[in-house]
Amino acid sequence: MAAVNEADRRAAEIDAAWGERERGLVAPRRWAMRRRLAGEQNWRCCYCGCRTEIDTLGPRAATIEHLTPKIDGGSDDYENLVSACSRCNNDRGHAPLDEWLAIVTAWKRADARRA
Ligand SMILES: [Zn+2]
Repeated sequence: MAAVNEADRRAAEIDAAWGERERGLVAPRRWAMRRRLAGEQNWRCCYCGCRTEIDTLGPRAATIEHLTPKIDGGSDDYENLVSACSRCNNDRGHAPLDEWLAIVTAWKRADARRA
């Protein structure tokens, strides 16, 4: 799939340009997981579907998201992790997944009406 190759190519580019700097700021395991999850989702937020990036601290930064929040006993295991944009991750907070998905769905409807 071309899109996946594009994401891989972009990831390699980012690695070359930012990898060393970023690795100095983020624990290596966390960095690797962020990239792995984002790459598996083709650099799309699992909730709002926006394009995510790893070399940014803005709202579209790819973050590690816990499907079941840690405060509710969610684990750091791979099965509980997805890639979400920073905006969704921050806005969700500790909201339960079903509540949060209802909020995102409402957002998307509102965006579609504005478009
Ligand atoms: Zn998002």
